[in-house]
Amino acid sequence: MPQIIHSHTTHTTKSPTYKAWENMVQRCTNPKHGKWEYYGGRGIAISPEYRTFAGFLNGMGERPEGMTLDRIDFDGNYEPGNCRWSDMQTQKANRRARRFKEYCKRGHPLSGDNVRVRILANGYINRTCKKCAVILQREQRIAAKEGAKL
Ligand SMILES: [Zn+2]
Repeated sequence: MPQIIHSHTTHTTKSPTYKAWENMVQRCTNPKHGKWEYYGGRGIAISPEYRTFAGFLNGMGERPEGMTLDRIDFDGNYEPGNCRWSDMQTQKANRRARRFKEYCKRGHPLSGDNVRVRILANGYINRTCKKCAVILQREQRIAAKEGAKL
């Protein structure tokens, strides 16, 4: 394989972006890496585009100060569309939101056609029940009518 020439490594220093890429590769491909069990060990892979630093840089751009590499879908791969630079706060929020509930409070399944998924600006994933949204609208209409009568 030809050597990829870029300005991100010299003999003595590596850019933050290069380090982020290198760590990702290690987590996913090196069973001796301390966090292997959470990444490569549970099937998290790197798409062909991101296996080279040049491809990764092309897709992700430079790592902004204070940001780290994050996956939008925790169970998804490192691939275009599932990676972003985010700060620790966003990553923590994303981690909390990962423990999805299977049913809404009324017992409707929070899956398939009945779930509405939105990714909020702060990184939270918002999953709401469509049946409950209809019920709520109906209740609000009734309440508005009754309010008008009073
Ligand atoms: Zn519901």
